[in-house]
Amino acid sequence: MIKIVDLHKYYGELEVLKGINKEIKKGEVVAIIGPSGSGKSTFLRCLNLLEEPTNGHIYIDGIDILDKKTDINKVREEKIGMVFQHFNLFPHKTVLENLTLGPIKIKNFTQKEAEIIAFELLEKVGLKEKAYVYPNSLSGGQKQRIAIARALAMKPSILLFDEPTSALDPEVVNEVLEVMKTLVKEGMTMLVVTHEMGFAKNVASRVFFMDRGNILEDDEPKKIFENPSHERTKEFLSKVL
Ligand code: ADP
Ligand code: MG
Repeated sequence: MIKIVDLHKYYGELEVLKGINKEIKKGEVVAIIGPSGSGKSTFLRCLNLLEEPTNGHIYIDGIDILDKKTDINKVREEKIGMVFQHFNLFPHKTVLENLTLGPIKIKNFTQKEAEIIAFELLEKVGLKEKAYVYPNSLSGGQKQRIAIARALAMKPSILLFDEPTSALDPEVVNEVLEVMKTLVKEGMTMLVVTHEMGFAKNVASRVFFMDRGNILEDDEPKKIFENPSHERTKEFLSKVL
């Protein structure tokens, strides 16, 4: 589903991604862990072209998304959903509008069609009663569940999460993780940058350990957590576990 070939990213002189090669299959749930500044966010942002890779290739469903002929917006908006640490909901739109805007504007859904889907998704994330309120009246956990619903409204084939629970109070982290687990059960392909080692260990099917612009380790969770191959991974895990 995703094929990444020799992906490099520089910010000026700083090389942040140092030639990443990976393939991710449909239905895989990849947890990306690693120290701050190792390039995790940049990696995700390159996948949906929020950042322009300096070189390399990214294929999504066989389409080379860096090919000049590819309609980047279409790929970004229709194939790949992204959920951010700070939710990024539209503050001046109701919850329902947050969910229907994209499908109406980009997928040419009618208002009615978009609302039917939006209510299904609100039901799924357990927030049907919040359809007509504004985001600022929601708790952090509720905002993040709405942000997930909004991403799903575009029917993406891949969902990217960049530290979806890092900005949340501890007591609401679980409600967001529960929604994410539901998506995993449904077979959604997901890449999740996270500090939730429980999620990486128990929910992900695969873990990437990123260090200084490389994916140093790529293995099943059990192997990474119980018997990591690299000293850097051991050192990192000893600090976070
Ligand atoms: P992580 O998500 O693992 O903490 P990032 O991908 O955010 O790491 O950052 C990797 C490196 O790139 C860091 O050194 C960071 O300072 C740098 N960086 C990130 N974004 C930019 C940017 N827009 N301009 C310049 N440097 C950046
Ligand atoms: Mg980051």
